[in-house]
Amino acid sequence: MGFKDASVSIVKCSQYHSVDDAKIAVRKAVDFLGGMESIITPGDHVLLKPNFVCPVDYKTGATTNPHVIFAIAELCREVGAKRITIAEGPGIGQDMDDVYDQLGIRDMAAKYNCHVVNILKDEFTYVVNPLGKHIKRIRLPKTFIESNVVINIPVMKTHDALAVTLGLKNMKGIIHNSDKKRFHKWGLAQTVVDLGHLAMPELTIMDGTVALEGMGPVVGSPVNLGLVLASTDTVAMDRVCLEIMGFGLEEVDYIRMAGEQGLGCTDLSRIRVLGEALESVKRPFQRLSFDSKLLEERGITVVECDACSGCNNAINSYIYSLHVKGELDKLSGCTLVYGQTPSISEEASDKVIRLGVCTRNMQGAKGVYVPGCPPHPMHIDDYLAGEGLKKE
Ligand code: SF4
Repeated sequence: MGFKDASVSIVKCSQYHSVDDAKIAVRKAVDFLGGMESIITPGDHVLLKPNFVCPVDYKTGATTNPHVIFAIAELCREVGAKRITIAEGPGIGQDMDDVYDQLGIRDMAAKYNCHVVNILKDEFTYVVNPLGKHIKRIRLPKTFIESNVVINIPVMKTHDALAVTLGLKNMKGIIHNSDKKRFHKWGLAQTVVDLGHLAMPELTIMDGTVALEGMGPVVGSPVNLGLVLASTDTVAMDRVCLEIMGFGLEEVDYIRMAGEQGLGCTDLSRIRVLGEALESVKRPFQRLSFDSKLLEERGITVVECDACSGCNNAINSYIYSLHVKGELDKLSGCTLVYGQTPSISEEASDKVIRLGVCTRNMQGAKGVYVPGCPPHPMHIDDYLAGEGLKKE
C-alpha cells in the first residue's frame, strides 16, 4: 500500500510512559501504512516537528509526549535515517531553549542521538507560494528546507481560536515569530491553509496518548485517550480526529477549507480507517461553556453578526478565560460586537468593544477596536488596557 492513499491508522497505546512502550504502538500505526521504510531512504535527514507550545509536561495534554517522539526517532534510525532533528518554535512569549530544558528534551535527544533546533534561532529564507491566497511568500527555516522528510507529531487538542489544533495547524510552529502574529492579522484559517501548500509533512503521527479538552491549547483538562494515529494525508488525519473528538467539519473552518482547496481529503467516505474502528474510539471532547446568566447579571451584551468559527471560538474562549480567572466584572456594562456584518443598535452602551478586522470600519463605529482575524484571545486584554475602555 502506498503513502498516496487517504488512509489513517488508529492504534491503541495504553502504555506510553516509556519510549519502548510507545514504540510498539507507533510501529503498528506506521506499519498499517506500509512501514517507515516507505517514506525514509537510507541517508535521509529527518525533521521531527512536535508541539512544544510551552514548558508543560505531556501529562497535561498540552505538549507532545516525548516518548512518542523518540519512539519515532528510533523507527527512523532503524530504516537508515542519517540525521534526525527535533525542531520547534514555541508559542509567542515563550523561550524555546527553556522549553526544551524544562521538558528534558535535550537529555533524551543526547540519549537517542538526535539533534535539537530552536527554530527562533534558525536561518530563514523567503519561499514563494503560488497557490497561497493570502500568503504569496513567507520565510521558512533552514532546518525545514534542508530536511528530506518531515514527520509532524501534533497532540490532539481543543484550541481557543480555531476550535481544535491538530496536524495542519501544528506546522505553524515552524514559521518566524513575527509571521505568527501576522497570521491573525491576515486571517488565521486561510493562512494556516496557505502554509499547508508549502509545508505539508510527509507523515503525520498524532499523539493521542494524552489529549486535551476544554480550554485548549494549554490550560484545558487532560484526556487519557491512549491512542496513536498515523497518516500521510494530514488533512484526512485531522478529519478523523474531528470525528473522535465529536466536532463537525463545519465547526472548524481551516480544516474544511483545506479540503476544499485540495490539501487533503475531508470526505470521510473516502478515508480508509485502518486498525481500530472509528466508532470504537470516539470520545466527545469538552467544549468551552458557561452560563449566559453570568453575562446578564453584569450587563454584558455579546453581538455576534455572521461570524466565522474563528471569531466565535476566540471570543467565547476570551470570555470563558475571564470567567475562570474571576475577572468577568471587568466587562460589566460592555457590548462586545464581532462578525462579518457587524452592527449594534443606537442604544448600545458607550462601552463598545469591536473585535476582529471585520469591525474596523463598521458603520457608526465607536468604542475600542481590537484587530486580528480572528483576534487572539490572549491579546484582547492588551488592547483593552492599551486603549482604555473608560476613555470611550
Ligand atoms: S468574522 Fe471577520 S474577523 Fe472574525 S474570523 Fe471571520 S473574517 Fe476574521
